[in-house]
Amino acid sequence: MTIKICRISGDGIGPEIVAEASKVLDTVLAGSGNSAVYQDVLMGGCSIDKYGVPLTDEAIDTARKCDAVLQGSIGGNTTTSPWYKLPPEKRPEAGLLKIRKALGLYANLRPAYLYSELSESCPLAEKNGEPRKFDLIMVRELTGGLYFGARHTEEVNGILTATDTDVYNENEIRRIARTAFDVAMKRRKKVTSVDKANVLDTSRLWRKITKEVSEEYPEVSLDNMLVDNCAMQLVRDPEQFDVILTENMFGDILSDEASMITGSIGMLPSASLCETSFGLYEPSHGSAPDIAGKNIANPLATILSASMMLRYSFDMIKEADAIEEAVRKTLSDGIRTTDIMPADKEKAASMKPVSCSEMGDAVAARIK
Ligand code: NAD
Repeated sequence: MTIKICRISGDGIGPEIVAEASKVLDTVLAGSGNSAVYQDVLMGGCSIDKYGVPLTDEAIDTARKCDAVLQGSIGGNTTTSPWYKLPPEKRPEAGLLKIRKALGLYANLRPAYLYSELSESCPLAEKNGEPRKFDLIMVRELTGGLYFGARHTEEVNGILTATDTDVYNENEIRRIARTAFDVAMKRRKKVTSVDKANVLDTSRLWRKITKEVSEEYPEVSLDNMLVDNCAMQLVRDPEQFDVILTENMFGDILSDEASMITGSIGMLPSASLCETSFGLYEPSHGSAPDIAGKNIANPLATILSASMMLRYSFDMIKEADAIEEAVRKTLSDGIRTTDIMPADKEKAASMKPVSCSEMGDAVAARIK
């Protein structure tokens, strides 16, 4: 089988990490008699520089004709880059919102998993002197809520006033809730739905519809948690969570928090799914302009995103497992990019420091 991948390398470290993910993908596919063909398109700052817009309609058409999208990261330094002097709809991030909407990518899955090999870089590595073990997945609604509601800035009685609108309808909530319950059925069968139902109408509707959906899944338990409490519980006791279901803005913030408690944002993949097997796979981190072009970025989040692609879009479970196993083996062999080096000098001395491309080589070499 030949899979057709739309490849969006993007800006900053994007091209470096996507090259490594492609290397690993090609290795694992060749091992099982399959292959990938790549259609490269521009998105973000590189597309602004070439076409004046962060994402062209042609790029979206190319993505639609492929089986899945593998994406690096987009954007630049938001203080110094000229891209951020443009109006909001022309900035790099507008490309992200446009592709999610155009491809109907309404569900964002972000696992946060503590590798025992990296427990020394996790700020919460121990609980009562015992190593922690947490393994949760955030299911975030991606095409509704505050980020997609109407917004404007106007002068009211001579005072500049900005308005953003938070909108959800019951169908949008039902769809993402079902995704979360389906994911929970394949895991430990526990959903924690996060909202701000003590204040927001959108959250009260969220709670009502989520409860209705839960009745279709009698094997899965459902808890509701307020978002401020969830932010605290993630740091206090992340083991309590299996699947966290939440809306767009809360998920944006909580998923970064969840990724940070694993020790490095450079480790965490994500999948954005629609109602078919099509999906967009990208690391959870941004374009890291501070380290771009130096061949020192950690490519593992993108490599693990490629593994999620094989699992969710192509049902290639053995190949997806082979990538995850190779990553684990690479870590247990002490191979580390700078961001996942232990802070302790003695421990760091026993590790093998590698560049971004050497990390890709190391994982590819360990594919069984
Ligand atoms: P960032 O995630 O790019 O970087 C935060 C910190 O983490 C930096 O110190 C960076 O060097 C480090 N880091 C990130 N990824 C790393 C990796 N793979 N290996 C080693 N270190 C890594 O976040 P930021 O600095 O807030 O944002 C930079 C740009 O990225 C902005 O333009 C932002 O809008 C954009 N962004 C894009 C996406 C996306 O493409 N989906 C997501 C988030 C941010």
